Amino acid sequence: MSERYPNIEGGACADLAPGVAAKYFDINTQKQVFERQTAIAICGHCVVRAACLEASLVKPDAELHGVTAGLTPVEIRTLKQWRSYDLGTTDEIPSRPRPALVQVEQSHAASAAVEYRRTTTLTFDERVRGVFLDLRSGKYNETGGISQAIGAIAFIREQMDANAAAGKRAAA
Ligand code: SF4
Repeated sequence: MSERYPNIEGGACADLAPGVAAKYFDINTQKQVFERQTAIAICGHCVVRAACLEASLVKPDAELHGVTAGLTPVEIRTLKQWRSYDLGTTDEIPSRPRPALVQVEQSHAASAAVEYRRTTTLTFDERVRGVFLDLRSGKYNETGGISQAIGAIAFIREQMDANAAAGKRAAA
């Protein structure tokens, strides 16, 4: 269940270890560039992003914060303006261009690889190697793919550290 949108089940941000979602998603998107890129990469793989985006488009501007559905508050506000223009509720052409949504289409092989990694105990090195194999196979094929791969590696490290810490606490 997504903490950002409690009525949306299955959000990728909801699967993060405690505190990790806040670190990457509840940020100043202008200043925290690395965190923003990481959150956008996570949203790019989220299966409920369409629903998340719809929910964000009906949220009041004042409640938009951090990264949601792979977009910053400015981008979501711009998308709202474009939607109003497209629907004919305003004649004013938005001053900013339409925000591009990061699309990460997974092949069957990539999906199977994700599932394998999710259910198998791999070392950090093995997981990083997997990211580079994905990069080479064109999984991160949009502009900024290297940044997204780096974000994915940071995310893996963060998750492994958080899981290790949780394991130690449980064992204590
Ligand atoms: S699209 Fe992004 S913010 Fe929305 S539920 Fe998925 S991971 Fe979370």
